[in-house]
Amino acid sequence: MQQLKEILHKIDGKGYKAYKDIKGNYRFPNYRLIIDAVQGDPFASPSKIRVLIPLEKTRVSKEWLNHKWRKIMCEDVLLRSVSAAIDRTPSKVNGSGKSGLLAIDRPGQEILERTAVQLNELEVTLCMTIGLPAQGRRVLGKQAERLFIEILPSIIERSVLSVTKESLVTHVQLIDQQQAIRNFMKDNNLISFIANGSLLPRESGISDRPLKKTSVIPFRSPKSLEVEIPIPHRDAPIKGMGINKGVTLIVGGGFHGKSTLLKAMERGVYHHIQGDGREFVLSDPTAVKIRAEDGRSVIKTNISAFINHLPYHQDTETFTSDNASGSTSQAANIIEALEVGAKTLLMDEDTCATNFMIRDARMQALVHKEHEPITPYLDKIRPLFQDYQVSTILVMGGAGDYFDVADCVIKMENYQAYEVTEEAKRIAHDIQYHRVHEGGQSFGALSSRKLIPKGLNSRNGKKSAVKARSLSTIQWGTSHLDLSYVEQLVDPSQTRMITEILTTLAKTELAREMLPISERLDQIEKQMDEQGLASFSSFKENPGALTRPRKYEIAAALNRLRQLQVD
Ligand code: ADP
Ligand code: MG
Repeated sequence: MQQLKEILHKIDGKGYKAYKDIKGNYRFPNYRLIIDAVQGDPFASPSKIRVLIPLEKTRVSKEWLNHKWRKIMCEDVLLRSVSAAIDRTPSKVNGSGKSGLLAIDRPGQEILERTAVQLNELEVTLCMTIGLPAQGRRVLGKQAERLFIEILPSIIERSVLSVTKESLVTHVQLIDQQQAIRNFMKDNNLISFIANGSLLPRESGISDRPLKKTSVIPFRSPKSLEVEIPIPHRDAPIKGMGINKGVTLIVGGGFHGKSTLLKAMERGVYHHIQGDGREFVLSDPTAVKIRAEDGRSVIKTNISAFINHLPYHQDTETFTSDNASGSTSQAANIIEALEVGAKTLLMDEDTCATNFMIRDARMQALVHKEHEPITPYLDKIRPLFQDYQVSTILVMGGAGDYFDVADCVIKMENYQAYEVTEEAKRIAHDIQYHRVHEGGQSFGALSSRKLIPKGLNSRNGKKSAVKARSLSTIQWGTSHLDLSYVEQLVDPSQTRMITEILTTLAKTELAREMLPISERLDQIEKQMDEQGLASFSSFKENPGALTRPRKYEIAAALNRLRQLQVD
């Protein structure tokens, strides 16, 4: 600490480059500070530091660390405490550019594996960024001293060192309960669970926080779909709606809460924090939201199960397009999700291509099958389940065609769920369409493509620039990778991690044998499990703010890369 003070004294008023001298390792009363990388000027990306706090100075129990999810939960609690303490530190220091900025990864509503806070048997490591203060381009040594010697220690004091045992225990218990529900779902073939009392609506289309209004209707399961799940740390089992594998339809009038329910299921692949309202809304972790995405690029995907005989003999077994249509993009989204192991597909009529979803009797009469390349999902939804055990949960308020193929029909009315399977089946029987089943009895081929390494080269003859620009944009050399329609990508740090993974793939792939995409992604997951997220970072000691994505979102990024080459 003293040493850092002295250096800051010495460089006060000098040119900004003099800050390079503070790189190093410093001892503070409660922690060790490591200044890993110093920014080149006050406007550049802020400097990278680590704060290492001995575990015994926190209330984290060592035994929690042996449990993957308990550990992640404790890291999450500590991270949120630091983030909150930073917010409660109003006046940092002034200066030009990013002077005085102090930041750490900013979690949303999900509890995710991250690099920003890492726990091990010995210590807690925080990866933070700091804007070294300057006036113009002159070092503001006094201000830097305030940041390092007063403000940062106070933030650590008010966060990591003040988190109580009680608070940690409460959170660890929550994750135990969430895990218990997941295990139960697995053992009982449930693909989604929504606890009674869950609060599903969100603040707005751009905010994932709970809608805080007295008019919010808590979720309540229809009696016929209610399951009871025994969970630890409380006596009574938790009750809620359980959705079985198979085909589930969500119907109801416009504005009655269908999409809100589906959205909650989509996000149920992740765990949510206490107070979110969706703490006990959990879905099959392999569930993938499928939508139409016209304009996306598709590279050699086998969409022949859905689309055949395109005009002018365009091939659909290795379908490639720079600018896919609504239906072909939706078909590709499905096939690519299946390729990497998705076992549940979630769809909402609001974002589906109509001609991909339905083709009614009248249209069958007017446009003959030999002139319609698309076999609608309606005719593939059951074969998909029979041949590959892939379930579908579908919101469809505008057409009753799916009544025949559904195992379960849920109706939303005034934000309340009712089971109407029998009624729907009766109606399907009474009102016959004389619609012809198309597309055969089996689902058809899936895709299994191998990565050709050179396709991942971002240089393209020029200097490589690969950077996550936002939640939904990755700059890949000279092109931009657009992930705005990958709806289960939820955190910008996941996007950053995907960028690191793609970069790693690009680097290491050349030396390897060509592997199917799914196998390669399994290896990536294994590496994350065994060596941690940081092992993908170019700066392993201080990986900064990275968050674990699912392999479905990694695949989604890969598949949208316009330079992708596969065989
Ligand atoms: P649908 O898809 O059936 O047309 P939405 O799910 O989009 O309907 O919901 C319509 C509106 O109702 C949204 O603004 C949503 O926030 C709100 N809403 C949904 N569920 C609830 C609920 N349980 N309580 C209060 N408002 C809700
Ligand atoms: Mg809707």
